[in-house]
Amino acid sequence: MGPLQRFSLIHLLLILCGAVSVLADDAVEPAIGATRIARWHDDRTAAFLLMFDDSWPSHFQVAVPELVKRDMTATFYINPGKGEYKAHKNEWEDRVWKAGMAYGNHTMTHKGVADYDDADREIGQCTAAILDTVPGKKPRLMSWAKPGVPKGKWNITQAQLDSLLQKYHLIDRPTFRDHGAVYHLKTPEDMLKLADKAIAGGEMEYIVIHGVERRAPMNTNYQDFWPLDQDILRALLDGLAKRRDRGDLWITDHIRYHQYRTERDAAKVQVVSADDHAIRLKLTCTADPQFYDQPLTLITRVPGGWKIGQVTQGKHTQQCEVRDGVVRFNATPSIDLITIQRH
Ligand SMILES: [Zn+2]
Repeated sequence: MGPLQRFSLIHLLLILCGAVSVLADDAVEPAIGATRIARWHDDRTAAFLLMFDDSWPSHFQVAVPELVKRDMTATFYINPGKGEYKAHKNEWEDRVWKAGMAYGNHTMTHKGVADYDDADREIGQCTAAILDTVPGKKPRLMSWAKPGVPKGKWNITQAQLDSLLQKYHLIDRPTFRDHGAVYHLKTPEDMLKLADKAIAGGEMEYIVIHGVERRAPMNTNYQDFWPLDQDILRALLDGLAKRRDRGDLWITDHIRYHQYRTERDAAKVQVVSADDHAIRLKLTCTADPQFYDQPLTLITRVPGGWKIGQVTQGKHTQQCEVRDGVVRFNATPSIDLITIQRH
């Protein structure tokens, strides 16, 4: 090999390296319009659910005001035929849900079911009461929590229960096991450990609460079942708010969580067109839109130099700040295309 040939070979290698590096640059630079569906609403790292069982008065007396103060929601598993509910019907019918709280079905009376027909009444009437109280679609998905009842008081099979859950569009919540405040989880640290576990795995965690401690000037002659110390409740909520405010947690109710997760897994986003002026996307989902109609959060790469993207879908328009070259917005799976333009 002469000097000239050697030079040529090195030269060729250099050219090849250059070509490879150009290819690699192309591969890491995401294309304009490239879109991903966020794992959780608003691109939070994890989801967290608070659940309150059995319609105890301390829920609206203590828990709801503490939640509202922190702009948080929770799911309240109510029993519209139970004494504590009936004694404070107005609170449940006119106030708690209006404060942004969700209701779940925990049967009418919490006394168990004698047979299938009794179960149909216990479950069906509770669903009807919630649909009548809280405005919205009829039918719609609702969270279900099977009440804990003494042995011998739950006289239907799992298959019979499943058929009733289907009949009334009820979604079974995750199990009480290892997630009960007071019963399993004693300290705010115990509880917040669950939140940190959810964040570490990008998953969902939850806590089930029964009573909450009442303090003077409220009537303290009696406390509700398994009352959670108020200081512990406040420390828990503050810890959750801190994690939410730094972008880690989506604190929501059981059905919104279930809908988001179902839709996310069944949705597809397609770039219809993308250039320096406009991006058009199509977001479709195979889940039944009658029951799965929550918006999903999308993150889309926009052309360099854009400061604000204007996102339009159907009649709905929103302005989104461009951060790190992307816009983040909420859109509902639909036949309406999503258009993103420079604003
Ligand atoms: Zn219960």
